[in-house]
Parts: sequence; structure tokens; C-alpha cells
Amino acid sequence: MRKKILIVGGGTAGTMTANNLAKKLMPEIDKDEVEITLISNSKNHYYRPGAMYVAFGKSEGYEFVREQRSLLMSEIKFEVEEAVEIDTKNNFIKVKSGKKFDYDFLVLATGCEAAPERIPGLAEGGDIFYTYEGAMKLAKKFHKLEKGRVLVTVNFPKTPNIPHQCGIAPVETTIMLHDFLVERGIRDNVEIIYTYPTEAQAVTNGLFLQEPTSKVLPSIFDGAGIKHKTGFTLNKVDAENKVAYSQEGEKIEFDILMSTPPFVAVEFIRNSGLSKALDNEGWLPTDKKTLKVIGQNNIYTLGDTVDLPVSKAGGTIHNQTDVVADNIASELRHGYPTESYDGLVIAIAQMGLSCGMPLWYDYNEDVKPTPCSKLGSFVRKGFNKGIYWAAARGMI
Ligand SMILES: Cc1cc2nc3c(=O)[nH]c(=O)nc-3n(C[C@H](O)[C@H](O)[C@H](O)COP(=O)(O)OP(=O)(O)OC[C@H]3O[C@@H](n4cnc5c(N)ncnc54)[C@H](O)[C@@H]3O)c2cc1C
Repeated sequence: MRKKILIVGGGTAGTMTANNLAKKLMPEIDKDEVEITLISNSKNHYYRPGAMYVAFGKSEGYEFVREQRSLLMSEIKFEVEEAVEIDTKNNFIKVKSGKKFDYDFLVLATGCEAAPERIPGLAEGGDIFYTYEGAMKLAKKFHKLEKGRVLVTVNFPKTPNIPHQCGIAPVETTIMLHDFLVERGIRDNVEIIYTYPTEAQAVTNGLFLQEPTSKVLPSIFDGAGIKHKTGFTLNKVDAENKVAYSQEGEKIEFDILMSTPPFVAVEFIRNSGLSKALDNEGWLPTDKKTLKVIGQNNIYTLGDTVDLPVSKAGGTIHNQTDVVADNIASELRHGYPTESYDGLVIAIAQMGLSCGMPLWYDYNEDVKPTPCSKLGSFVRKGFNKGIYWAAARGMI
């Protein structure tokens, strides 16, 4: 009988995995023995890092959106549907329209979402660059800004050892802000204060979630006149008076609060009963090697929704997608998974408007900070301009 593979989520993880699966299983697809379906609650696909450039007026964002159908191989069925329920005993997903999608193998790739409402006053008093709407709002504020203070805050999930979305993004945007203000000729009138919480994944009292980067950041920030402060875990914002309060008992006034808010898995996953994460954050318990949901024989997951201690980043997904696709293909052909994820993350951080820093690490080897360069920025911008779409199609 024909085997059904169902993928939920048409972002980086779902799209890459659907295309990789279609390539690997082409002989079975040709014989009508395997069917691949992707469902997503949006007909569009968003290249999420693009929002950072929108925040500094470097893009209107249109080039960072594509129709999801156009990114999928023609052998993959695509339906715009919102998953609302999962029945792991009877192997089906129920969607908002009432339809049911059966599966033999399921891939959960619904990402995560910003939840500023989890900190009193943050939604009203703070700004985020993690969504296109938030970035557009920030761009307007940054263009009007003539003087004052921009405060940068970062919150982590309450579940231990889980990062927020894109660990390096708060650093990238802080340095991009510096360059943007220099470009506008008003840097001397604006104070930038970068803060970091006391507990940041595995690091305590640092400026970043990995020790080596945490150690080099002070000199980078000092060189740009960016003030920095550890031990500031945002827990309340007075939106009217523009004051940020920390769990450690301090307060800082601001003109603009550029925050990395709490993140959670999407509602469908939080309601699925599969997660044991704290505070109903919903991270899926994930086998660090096979990328199966722990306790589920035929469900895989990857990307921003997992509970692994690796960055919630496209540069992570790029290294996870083949593990998931290979394991499903070999389970179908031989009855067992063959691939193992080693925790590899590869990315180029945008350290300012025209400096790119390559970085990589895995479960065993920590990141080694390297100097950023114009060449790095050229490659990073190439990724933004088109390499990403090739990667999403499973071509790189
Ligand atoms: C501002 C910013 C900067 C970033 N910078 C970098 C960077 O420099 N380098 C890097 O590698 N990464 C970066 N990232 C992170 C990267 O973009 C994410 O890790 C990646 O997009 C996550 O992919 P995903 O597929 O897990 O989730 P997403 O891309 O969010 O996709 C999730 C998909 O699931 C769909 N969905 C959600 N709920 C449902 C449902 N109930 N039913 C059906 N479909 C559903 C959504 O519509 C979406 O299509 C950045 C992210 C942001 C926001």
C-alpha cells in the first residue's frame, strides 16, 4: 500500500525536508508507492532573517517572500491548512477546516513564535525585529530618532538549556543599529545599551549564550561605543514612562526598547500533549541524534520547535534536514533509521551593515569567533538575495 509522509509547516525546515525527501524517494514516488504532502497555514514563505534589514530601512521586505508552492518540487502535494490537533494513536492530523490528513510518517516543522505578552508591559512598551510587522514599526522609529537611548534586552525560554530564536540576532542588530546611526550622522546623540540576562542557556553572567563569543563581545562593543551590561533579566516594562525593570532589581529608562522577547512553540504544538517543557512553552522532546520526537516511533521534528540546545536558526536546519529525510527514507526501505545529527550549525552573522562573520559549532565543539569581513558580508547578502531560495529547494 502507498505510504504517506506528511509534513506540517512550510517554513525553512518543512520546505527543505519536503524537497530532500522527494529527491531521495523519487523511485518510490515514480511507482506510486510513496506520497509526500506538506500543509502550511500560509500560502507564502517568509525568509525570516530578512526582517533585520527591514528594521534598518535596508529593504521593504518584498524580496524576502515567495509563494510556498513555487519552492516545492512538483511531486509534493501542497495544501494551505492550519493544523489544530494531532492523534498519534490513529496517525492523523486534524486541520481547522475539519479535514483529516493520515500519515505513516509525520514531520513537525511549525517553528516558534514571539510571545512578548509573557512579560508585563513588553508588548506595549517594547519593539521586536523578529516579525516583519515589528521590523516595519522599528524602521519608522529609527528613522525619526534624533537623540536618546536605545535599550537592547534579551529573554530566554524558562525551560533550561533552550535558546531563543536565532541566538546571534540581538548582537547582529545592536551592531547594525550602531552602523545605521553612524550612516545617519547621529551616532553621538544616541546611547546604545546592550543588556543580557543572568541565565542564558548554559552561560551565567555573560554577554552571549556561548562562552567564547561572550568573551570577545566586550572589545567589539567598546570599539563601537556600545555600552553593555550583564545580569539584566527583563521582567516588567512601564510602557507609559518608558522604564525597563529587571528580575535582579534594576531599572533602565529608554526611548526605544529593542527586545528579544520570550519565544514559544506554536499553539497547535503547545496543545498537542507531546511536550513537557516548562510554562507551556511547547518545545518538542527531540532525540538529539535521530531527530525523532521522543516516545513517537513515526514522528520526526527539526527547526525552531525542538528542545535541543542548538541555535534556532536556518544554519541549524540546513544540517538537520538531511538527517530527517535520510532516516525516513531508510525506515521506509529497510525498517530502521541510518543517519545521526551531530549538532552542526553553520551560519554567517551580519555583524554590522557591511561585515559578515562565519561561524560554526556542534554538540562537541564550541564556536570559535573569527573576525568579520566585507567578504563575509558579501556571502551573507548573497544568501539573502538568492542562495536561500536554492537552499530551501534542497539544492545546496
Ligand atoms: C530577525 C531574524 C533573524 C534571523 N537571523 C538568522 C540568521 O542570521 N541565520 C540563521 O541561520 N537563522 C536566522 N534566523 C532564524 C531562522 O529564520 C529560523 O530558525 C527558521 O526560519 C526556522 O525555520 P522553521 O521552519 O523551524 O520555522 P518557520 O520558518 O517559522 O516556519 C514555520 C512554518 O509553519 C507554519 N505553521 C505554523 N503553525 C502552523 C499550523 N498550526 N499549521 C500549519 N502550518 C503552521 C508557518 O506558517 C510557517 O510556514 C533569524 C530569524 C529571525 C526572525
